[in-house]
Amino acid sequence: MKTCYYKTLGVERSATADEIKKSYRKLAMKYHPDRNPDNKEAEDKFKAAAEAYEVLGDAEKRKVYDQYGFEGLQNTGYSGPGDFNDIFSHFGDIFGDLFGMGGGGQRRQGPSQGADLRYDLQISFMEAVHGVEKELEITKRDTCWTCDGSGLRPGHQPQTCPTCQGRGQVIQSQGFFRLSTTCPHCHGQGQIVTDPCNDCGGGGLVRKTKKVALKIPAGVDTGSRMRLQREGEGGRKGGPAGDLYVIIHVEEHEFFQRHGNDILCRIPLSMVQAALGCELDIPTIHDAAKLKIPAGTQGGSTFRIRNEGVPSLRTRERGDMIVEVLVQTPTKLNKRQKELLREFGEIEEKAGADGDGFLKKLFQKSA
Ligand SMILES: [Zn+2]
Ligand SMILES: [Zn+2]
Repeated sequence: MKTCYYKTLGVERSATADEIKKSYRKLAMKYHPDRNPDNKEAEDKFKAAAEAYEVLGDAEKRKVYDQYGFEGLQNTGYSGPGDFNDIFSHFGDIFGDLFGMGGGGQRRQGPSQGADLRYDLQISFMEAVHGVEKELEITKRDTCWTCDGSGLRPGHQPQTCPTCQGRGQVIQSQGFFRLSTTCPHCHGQGQIVTDPCNDCGGGGLVRKTKKVALKIPAGVDTGSRMRLQREGEGGRKGGPAGDLYVIIHVEEHEFFQRHGNDILCRIPLSMVQAALGCELDIPTIHDAAKLKIPAGTQGGSTFRIRNEGVPSLRTRERGDMIVEVLVQTPTKLNKRQKELLREFGEIEEKAGADGDGFLKKLFQKSA
C-alpha cells in the first residue's frame, strides 16, 4: 500500500501550490543523495517525495489524484517517475542552480552539439527581388578531424578525473550547508585529457574557413532569415554541428521602394502630359510596362500596374507596381511659351475656372 502523497510531503489536502512546492523543496534538500551518500532510507524518501511532487505539483494530475486516487492516475497512463533522471528533470525550476546542475541530471557531458552561428549578408535590391546565388566564406570553430572532436591524441584514452573520481561533482561545505557543485578540475566531465590532440589542443574544435553556397529565393527582404542546417559550429565528441542562420539585409534602390510585395515608384509628369493625358513606358523591376495617364490627372495620383511587383516567398504570386505621378511646374520658359500660357490663363478666367471659386469661398469663411 502506498503512502498518501499529501502525507509524504507533510501537507494538508487543502495546501496551496506554493505550500506544496515549499514542502517538497525542504524534503528534497534534506534527503538529496549528494548529502546522504550510501543512505538507502534517504534515497527512498527522496524518491517518494519526488513522486508525490510530480503529482501534487501539477494541477491536472493533482485533480485526478484527489478524485480517483492512485488508481485514477494509473488509468490516465501515469505510473510515477521511472528512474532517477526523471526525478532530476524538474529540479531546474525548483532549485535553480542551487545544485549546479543547470536543470537536469546531466552530470557528465557526452557528445555535444555545436553552437548556432549568425551571418549578416548584404545584398542589392535587385538581388532580393529576383533571387541570387551567393557563396559565403565562414570562419568558424569546426570539429577537429584529427581527433574527431574528442580532444584526445590519437591512440590515447581519457583519464578519470582525480578530483571528483569521475563523478563530475564535488561536495563543498558552505557554512552548515553541504552543496554539490560542478567539479572545477574536469568541469563536470568526470574525465580529463592527459594527452591532448596536437591539432586542437584538446578542445576538439579548430578554426576553419569554409565556403558555403547559398541560394537566396526571389522575394526576400531585410530581416529574412535563412537556416543552413549543420553549417554552424562543429560538434564535440561526435555531436552534430550547429546551424548557420543567414540574416538578409537589402540595400535601398535609387528609384524603387518595397511596400511588402508591391513596388512603389514616383515619376515626374509635365503639366501638359497631366492635363492632356499620355501613354508612358515605365521601367519595372522585371522589364517595362505601358502606363496610360488619363487627361486631367492630378499630382499625387497613383496608378497600379498589376503583377509587376515582387514574388511572394510563400505563394510565388507577384505583387503590383504602384506609380505615383508628380506633376511639375515648368520653370525655364521662353518668350513664346510665356505668351501661350498667358493666353491660356485669360481663356481660363473667362471660362470661370478660378480654382472652383476656392479663394472667394476662403475669403468669405475667414471674414
Ligand atoms: Zn572532476
Ligand atoms: Zn583534435
